[in-house]
Amino acid sequence: MKVYKIGIVGGGAAGLMAAISAAQEGCNSVALFEGNVRCGTKILMSGGSRCNVTNYSVKAEDFFGGSKNFIKNVLHGFTDKMTIKFFEELGVKLKLEPAGKYFPEDDKASSVLHALLRRAGDLKVNIIVSTKIEKIEFSEGLFSLTSGENIFKAEKVILTTGGKSYPTSGSDGGGYSLAKSFGHTLVTPFPALTPILLNEEDSLTKLSGVTIPARLTIYYKGKKHIESENSLLFTHFGLSGPAALNISREVERLKNEDAKLFVNFIPSYSFETLSGYLKDQIKSGSDRLVLSLFKEHLPLSLAETIFSIAKVPIDKKFYSLSKEELKCLVTVAASYELKTKGVRGFNQAEVTAGGIPVGEVKYQTMESKLQNGLFLAGEILDVDGLIGGYNFQWAWSTGFIAGHSAAREAAKKI
Ligand SMILES: Cc1cc2nc3c(=O)[nH]c(=O)nc-3n(C[C@H](O)[C@H](O)[C@H](O)COP(=O)(O)OP(=O)(O)OC[C@H]3O[C@@H](n4cnc5c(N)ncnc54)[C@H](O)[C@@H]3O)c2cc1C
Repeated sequence: MKVYKIGIVGGGAAGLMAAISAAQEGCNSVALFEGNVRCGTKILMSGGSRCNVTNYSVKAEDFFGGSKNFIKNVLHGFTDKMTIKFFEELGVKLKLEPAGKYFPEDDKASSVLHALLRRAGDLKVNIIVSTKIEKIEFSEGLFSLTSGENIFKAEKVILTTGGKSYPTSGSDGGGYSLAKSFGHTLVTPFPALTPILLNEEDSLTKLSGVTIPARLTIYYKGKKHIESENSLLFTHFGLSGPAALNISREVERLKNEDAKLFVNFIPSYSFETLSGYLKDQIKSGSDRLVLSLFKEHLPLSLAETIFSIAKVPIDKKFYSLSKEELKCLVTVAASYELKTKGVRGFNQAEVTAGGIPVGEVKYQTMESKLQNGLFLAGEILDVDGLIGGYNFQWAWSTGFIAGHSAAREAAKKI
């Protein structure tokens, strides 16, 4: 039976990068096992099929989950600048878009995947698809990887099986059990970067299709916990767009806790400044429609919905706005409490929060602290990033470090 120096389980972004990095380091016996019929399904789905490869500024603060120090050290080991150079060397030039996101110049996620597969092929990585690894055991210095009737042997194993989001893509959480069989623990996975569900009776659900810049804030135990200011999209079931997706992990994590979610529909105003502006208009005796101010900042349908929720007639003029009406309008516009009923879930989550705790992995090498020769990389770990290319950067950084280190360790054994 052939014994591979390195067996990589999972052919997504982290697995492909680990395979290339190991082979580039000189390892000439790398096998990549992919359960699906092809590698990199999520790469193809990503960024609206454009693949947001990385970001102009990637910092530990852009991630949740494991310790910021661990994340910082890993990102330092293979930086966003190194990602850009790496892809350029593979023939994929990246372009920077205004929000700081990098995409391939031709806007095709397939260019990213094909370049990775081409490089892996050139480096003679054995890509073995339709091979889901069900069990991994270690004895007498070798790992045995079982897939149905087949048993593969490897000196080192890199686990890059991803998380649980979009399970139809192949990442169904099965990789966690493989890690657990070596004593690893699991921070309970939950969906992140997923739309937020509102109660059906919430009149905001009637605004489906409207997009505005907005600020969402979670108050936890009465204190401001987290804010997300970005584009917000209303849908028939609730809220989507980056502002909602970025805060969704905390909505989910704190769903049974004393946490409240508020929206400011006009983030250029705070409760106080909006209130002050309206008071000035009232004092001046303006006979302008109050609605006209809201129309300057918001689509008419949303402005009218705010008046309806606040129970203020839409033909109200400033001079006749009562104190009570002013308070209601400002509260709804700048600090409206959303009645959520959770998030969309794993089937429509761009990433999984939770996973294998980073404390069980050495940041210098991504090697398990519990099993020599076992390495972990990518979304399987308890780290999830914001929208903007951060999750791929995590996959590239951890994949690169794991591949490089596993190859060095494998070379020592000869
Ligand atoms: C719709 C969507 C859009 C996204 N857009 C972006 C974006 O633009 N930018 C960004 O940064 N991030 C984006 N992400 C997140 C990003 O795709 C992931 O964070 C990243 O792909 C994780 O890489 P990974 O290699 O760790 O895991 P995955 O990409 O999930 O790969 C894991 C692989 O392992 C395989 N596998 C699992 N178990 C086994 C097993 N037992 N045996 C063999 N193979 C196995 C799976 O089939 C899969 O191919 C998006 C995600 C989604 C779902």
